[in-house]
Amino acid sequence: MPAKRKYELSKFLEVLAVKSSLSTGTIARKVKCHISTALRYLRELKKAKQVTEQRISNTINLWKLTGKRILLVDVDSKIPNLALMKISAWHKEHGDNVVLLRGSTVDLCDKPDKVYASIIYKKNKHALNYIIAQYSGIIDIGGSGYDLHKTLPVEMEDLKPDYTLYPEFDYSIGFSSRGCIRSTKTCPFCIVPIKEGKFRRVAHPEEWYNPEYDKIVFLDNNILADKEYFMEITAWCIEKKLKVWFTQGLDIRKLDEEIALRLLEMKHYKMISFAWDHIEDEAIIREKIELLKQTGFTKNKLRAKVQFYVYVDSDDDYESGVYRCRELKKLNCNSYLMFNIDNKCTQRIKDLQRWSILKLFYWLNDITDFKDNIQASKISKKLLQSNA
Ligand code: SF4
Repeated sequence: MPAKRKYELSKFLEVLAVKSSLSTGTIARKVKCHISTALRYLRELKKAKQVTEQRISNTINLWKLTGKRILLVDVDSKIPNLALMKISAWHKEHGDNVVLLRGSTVDLCDKPDKVYASIIYKKNKHALNYIIAQYSGIIDIGGSGYDLHKTLPVEMEDLKPDYTLYPEFDYSIGFSSRGCIRSTKTCPFCIVPIKEGKFRRVAHPEEWYNPEYDKIVFLDNNILADKEYFMEITAWCIEKKLKVWFTQGLDIRKLDEEIALRLLEMKHYKMISFAWDHIEDEAIIREKIELLKQTGFTKNKLRAKVQFYVYVDSDDDYESGVYRCRELKKLNCNSYLMFNIDNKCTQRIKDLQRWSILKLFYWLNDITDFKDNIQASKISKKLLQSNA
């Protein structure tokens, strides 16, 4: 049995993708291996025509990549950035070398051939100015925080994402449908109708999931708009024994008995999320929670598995947000306060958000007691630590 390799060849390529030309010693330092080990791995890459070697003197040789150097900048994604994963897959298919940098203060690489940057939140737009100045002419920028209308070229969009780009995450991710049946008239705060347009099927998860993972994340914005497709896809997830998360939430107005039973049958690795965005929807929210109860979502199951996103656009919606969270709690459902991050977040909105997210406080106390209780819990925690 061959000995397990200590280093991945891609580690050496990544180092060279950041700096255009490096000596064996420098590469060894960056990968944190012995110089003779680096030489062995680099010679292997040379044989595979992925790097070239140039002898400068008896002791110094410089290494360069043969393919193009592609720099991806993920400014603010909280989950793996699907567009960047597809861009990476396309470039790797073409023999290029891809390196991903994350955050707004990144160590920039020297003279890449092409740079792609993605920004999700408008408030972080300024973070790109420096990067744009460094790479003018070779930079391509996208993401909801930058341009709602920009899409990937078809040859990239249709590819399976490069899962190696985010090794710290352990789930498949993708869209099985795009768009929504509703409009900005019904949901004025939502960018989906502008960004994605009308609802349509796009790709069965079979095309984009990674069989190494037992979890799958759907980014679909309104999968229940097409019940037949939802039933087909979820049956496939059950057959594959996948734990599912519909991160954007499910449209509770489309819920019926068959869908509720399917949700009960499926494995979920995060809460099943619905939304109560408009106060006027109270009657239908109550009716559908009742339907969930009748199909087998007991009080405990609702508490453990069901949450509602409660949207608050500005501080003017505070009272409405409190009312919706309290009513959901009475109905044994969790709340998760969502706030329009482009508006100023007041302290009371921050408190309401923390109360809804910190489940212990949410279930044991009312929002009015939250501040006192959180203070008391901090004091008792300190006391416990000092007595330990
Ligand atoms: S139903 Fe959801 S995705 Fe569709 S427009 Fe309304 S908020 Fe957006």
